Amino acid sequence: MYRQSRWNEPLIFEISREGAVGHVLPKLEKEISAQLKEATNEIPKHLLRAKLNLPEASELEVVRHFTRLSQMNYGISVGTYPLGSCTMKYNPVANERFASLEKVQNVHPLQDQRTVQGSLELLYRLEKSLCEITGMHKFSFIPAAGAQGEFLGCLMVKAHHEEQGEHRRKMIVPDSAHGTNPASAEMAGFQVDVVKSDETGCVDIEELETIATEETAGLMLTNPNTLGIFERNIEEIVQIIHGAGGLLYYDGANLNAIMGKARPGDMGFDIVHLNVHKTFSTPHGGGGPGAGPVGVTKELQKFLPAPTVEYQSATHSYYLDYNRPKAVGKMKMFYGNFAVYVKTYAYILMMGAEGLQLAAEASVLGSNYLLSKLRTLRGVAVPFDSGEPHKHEFVLSLSQLAKETGVRALDTAKRFLDHGVHAPITYFPLIIDEALMVEPTESEPKRELDNFAEVMSKIIEEAYHEPKKVLGAPYNTSVGRINEVKASHPKTLCLSWRMKRGAPR
Ligand SMILES: *Cc1c(COP(=O)(O)O)cnc(C)c1O
Repeated sequence: MYRQSRWNEPLIFEISREGAVGHVLPKLEKEISAQLKEATNEIPKHLLRAKLNLPEASELEVVRHFTRLSQMNYGISVGTYPLGSCTMKYNPVANERFASLEKVQNVHPLQDQRTVQGSLELLYRLEKSLCEITGMHKFSFIPAAGAQGEFLGCLMVKAHHEEQGEHRRKMIVPDSAHGTNPASAEMAGFQVDVVKSDETGCVDIEELETIATEETAGLMLTNPNTLGIFERNIEEIVQIIHGAGGLLYYDGANLNAIMGKARPGDMGFDIVHLNVHKTFSTPHGGGGPGAGPVGVTKELQKFLPAPTVEYQSATHSYYLDYNRPKAVGKMKMFYGNFAVYVKTYAYILMMGAEGLQLAAEASVLGSNYLLSKLRTLRGVAVPFDSGEPHKHEFVLSLSQLAKETGVRALDTAKRFLDHGVHAPITYFPLIIDEALMVEPTESEPKRELDNFAEVMSKIIEEAYHEPKKVLGAPYNTSVGRINEVKASHPKTLCLSWRMKRGAPR
């Protein structure tokens, strides 16, 4: 199934023809023209704008250029997009409509609060929903992403211990955690203690018991972890950390698998962040904006940054509370990416409690169905496998395939593109050699999962019989195999394209 368009669209500078215009404006009246000249003469020469090197094209040329560019792009509305840990699922288009309503787009964060009661009510009600879904007491909408939520969480852990007169310096992070966890802990000034995974892919409890001490500030847990496994010993983990006087942070970036089924608050967690741009509408991976609301227990709510959204029953009105003396400090301007929360709220209301549970079930079912089809393929292994079902995602190792054929996970990923399927995440989590991390999400129908399995099976066949073919992939996309090192630096990539094409800088 070849679904990719193969436009080789030039830069708009290459399309440019001198004198081409989109709109023909009426000629300036002589009088105005003369006045303009007069005015221009008043401006010092060195301040006059030089002629800008802008492309010139007709309206039709511009429309075609950008339409073709959009068709060179792969997106969730084109086909399967199984990036592990990213939840690239279908998000209802209606939610985009709500987010672009005038009342959402045209409110200003400095507007008098009496004029934005509807917006504040939306946030207030959304907070109640998120508390219900996670079992937490209060939320802040301020963090603009999951990683910023983690950073806020770490600052609150610090504030909590300082209030107790303690200076706990160490944050425990499992080796299967998302990479942002240790990064956020470090940024907040903690020293990271890594705890290993046991043979079933869960936190090694014995090791945790030896690591958790009176120096431990807390533990950050991604659950389900990046292997797609729910931490089986969650209650023990909570006991050990609380027993040592630490706090528990729940990385709920991928809540898909558990929403409506289990709540971090009930498990005993003190702080949780959600990536509403993964689980609750708004596609992840588009470069933002996103939102990473953070929920806390009653004991920690005083540390949440200002402002919080409150309700005053006497006047039946909503307001932003800036009077928060114990808050950890300013995280970001204003109170979060509002339009993203409009989508979150719409999504939760559309789905309802039952719908959210169904989504969780479908995401787990789809992932296990696909895993059952892939696990028997030649050269493929499922590390840390205990035989129990995975959650919303799973990780394969192509280590054996690489040894036997020279075809690595990266090459396999490139070959997927030729078949019109987006590649899974590669080389993450780091504890798995030649990793392919697959998250099909709840929105992929069985037919697409079957197609994915069939494509992967074909690629593996090819690796054993015609490895060169896989090593040269992709062939069927607008841009072929690129230099991975340069590509990981957007500026270099952009420059090298431009220079190759001889376009003006
Ligand atoms: C995506 C993700 C993050 C980071 O979220 P951003 O919004 O990209 O900052 C953190 N933890 C997990 C488990 C994730 O999947």
